[in-house]
Amino acid sequence: MKKLAVLGATGSIGAGTLKIVDRHPDLFTVTALSAWTRMEALAVLIAKYRPAIAVVGTAALSKKLIERLPSDLSVEVLHGIDGLCQAAVMTEVDQVVTAMVGAAGLQPTLAAIDAGKSIALANKETLVMAGEIVMARAKEKGVAIIPVDSEHSAIFQCLSAGRRRDLTKIILTASGGPFRNHPADEFARITVEDALAHPNWNMGAKITIDSATLMNKGLEVIEACRLFEVARQQIEVVVHPESIIHSMIAFKDGAVIGQMGLPDMRGAIAYALSAPERLDIAVPPPNFFDIKQLNFEPPDMAKFPCLGLAFEVLGLGGTAPAVLNAANEAAVYAFLKRTIAFTDIPGVVEAALADHAVCASPDLATIVAADQEARRFVQNRIAHQTR
Ligand code: NAD
Ligand code: MG
Repeated sequence: MKKLAVLGATGSIGAGTLKIVDRHPDLFTVTALSAWTRMEALAVLIAKYRPAIAVVGTAALSKKLIERLPSDLSVEVLHGIDGLCQAAVMTEVDQVVTAMVGAAGLQPTLAAIDAGKSIALANKETLVMAGEIVMARAKEKGVAIIPVDSEHSAIFQCLSAGRRRDLTKIILTASGGPFRNHPADEFARITVEDALAHPNWNMGAKITIDSATLMNKGLEVIEACRLFEVARQQIEVVVHPESIIHSMIAFKDGAVIGQMGLPDMRGAIAYALSAPERLDIAVPPPNFFDIKQLNFEPPDMAKFPCLGLAFEVLGLGGTAPAVLNAANEAAVYAFLKRTIAFTDIPGVVEAALADHAVCASPDLATIVAADQEARRFVQNRIAHQTR
């Protein structure tokens, strides 16, 4: 029986994880659950899974949550990043599912690694911000970081087809998002509702906006470089609107291995929980007679400058990816609050990068400081713009 800490349990990946647990109660049990603000939803999950620890965002929310819980439940309610870290290092926990969104994933993931817990990593922001530190720490502790992101899960699965030294290229597929065929001169009129309507995947708000700007693909390029220790020149992004091939790798003899499946995150989540074993999760293979054809095209880097910015920060290295990540997070939330336009997002990120003096080999504190500085920069810039 594998004991899971599901951090970010009320989100899209959290819900997908709990579906796998529900289907295989003989294999998995839930020892810790977290949500940031959605207390009602968390209370329902606590009553169902009876974890030993639950974590919410603030002390005030934890009080409210306790009031809401039946008195016969013995669950310790913690709060904040410290609470997430405590949940991640519990002796009883075997694997931590990092399904929280944004930079908040970094500290709990590092705490879990230090405690020797295996990681099912959905929170890509962790690897974007501090991938080199995180991967080095995982190596040192002998901890497996198994990707939940569908592209990285695909690459992880494909890698078993050959030797690492024969790998020449990673072909990262992208759906292209909702605006793939949208004329560039209409981008300025894109609304929050337009951007939240993803054609293939049903996800949380932040990653859905990232998918619309192609920043998500940019973050995934960085995630892939860190996770698989390849150079940015070895990564090619290919737009594949059907989202059936989740990604591919090429070997030196020209052989390409891809992983296919329906666009359903349960496959990647289940594999991260059970690899190398495969679970029956009631997801059928694609029906190729229905699909008929698979299409491929290059990404439009002019229409989607965020993707180019991600390749650029990989070249800059050091604190640059953390700045890209933080500025993007701040810009996306401003867009969701309708403070800035969709087309302002790449400009804001670019300006934050231009303002930042890159530190080439940062420690964790320097990365966190760069993240904070970038957020402040974006907030000031937006405040100026909208005044
Ligand atoms: P979501 O918005 O649906 O859920 C986010 C979860 O994180 C919620 O439980 C929320 O309570 C919690 N949370 C929010 N702010 C937090 C904070 N500051 N600190 C701690 N917890 C916080 O998001 P999602 O779509 O499930 O994505 C979660 C992560 O997985 C992201 O890093 C995303 O990039 C990654 N991911 C998601 C998908 C997907 O299909 N949804 C695919 C690949 C990767
Ligand atoms: Mg992905």
